[in-house]
Amino acid sequence: VKGLQKWFPLSRGFLQSSRFVRAVNNVDLIMRKGETVGIVGESGCGKSTLGRCILRLIEPTDGEIWFNGTNVSSLSKQAMHKYRRNMQMIFQNPYDTLNPKHRIRKILSEPLIAHRVPKEEHETLMVNILERVGLRKEHLERFPHEFSGGQRQRICIARALILGPELVIADEAVSALDVSIQSQILNLLQDLQEQMGLTYLFISHDLSVVQHISDRVAVMYLGEIVEMGDKQSFFQKPLHPYSQALLSAVPKNDPDENRERIILQGDLPSPTNPPSGCKFHQRCHVAMEKCKTEAPLLKEVEGRQVACHLYA
Ligand code: SF4
Ligand code: MG
Repeated sequence: VKGLQKWFPLSRGFLQSSRFVRAVNNVDLIMRKGETVGIVGESGCGKSTLGRCILRLIEPTDGEIWFNGTNVSSLSKQAMHKYRRNMQMIFQNPYDTLNPKHRIRKILSEPLIAHRVPKEEHETLMVNILERVGLRKEHLERFPHEFSGGQRQRICIARALILGPELVIADEAVSALDVSIQSQILNLLQDLQEQMGLTYLFISHDLSVVQHISDRVAVMYLGEIVEMGDKQSFFQKPLHPYSQALLSAVPKNDPDENRERIILQGDLPSPTNPPSGCKFHQRCHVAMEKCKTEAPLLKEVEGRQVACHLYA
């Protein structure tokens, strides 16, 4: 992902100057085959918009998306539709995304029909994928309401994987589930990743979930990536003050660990009118004078990328 931007127009009046919500601003992101990149940040920081732009479920305002050597952002709508079997999304709420009037058979056959998979292959593909996610052939004839929340998310995962994608973007995929069910689904996603060679972009506001599943972590703040690095070093020693504040709010594994809680001041500023300089300066516990005027660039620090003047 190169220089990705998504600005939503707020008003389009004839004589009004257009105002924009700058949901995603100049994001660069490299993902390697088979890895899981976790994207974290408060709600409203642009994580979901980034995920949807990568799949072109919404069109980016600017920037490029390359996938296995293809510039996906330049494909026509029609070509993109074909391409999308390689790139699928799993959403937060399995209650909303499964049509209650449709049997599982119909729900799972929809992507097969949309991508013109020959009819005689459907049954085998549906049964195979159901078994992979821990369900059975008999479940094909049931309706979504006959399943528990965790099972419904398994059905959503089956629907996303039935065409054999390479990249899966999971947007808060376990956030609606009970904690005990969350770990089952996370473990399932990890098993499927290994069996099917999947690459995950895992979007979540929940740092413990991201810690469980990710190889690398990117932190977003007001539409930008402010820190990115491998999981171990990130969780041991977050470098960006915003990452430090987010992590300090996570319950500690070791009660003796000496970690101060850093309280974030105020709310997330409006992405319509973002602060000057470092966009985090009004809430930062170590802001300096120059942070008010100069925007820090993402730079290599201790093998990671960080956008903060502390590491000049
Ligand atoms: Fe805080 Fe300044 Fe770093 Fe921004 S650039 S995170 S305000 S220290
Ligand atoms: Mg979101």
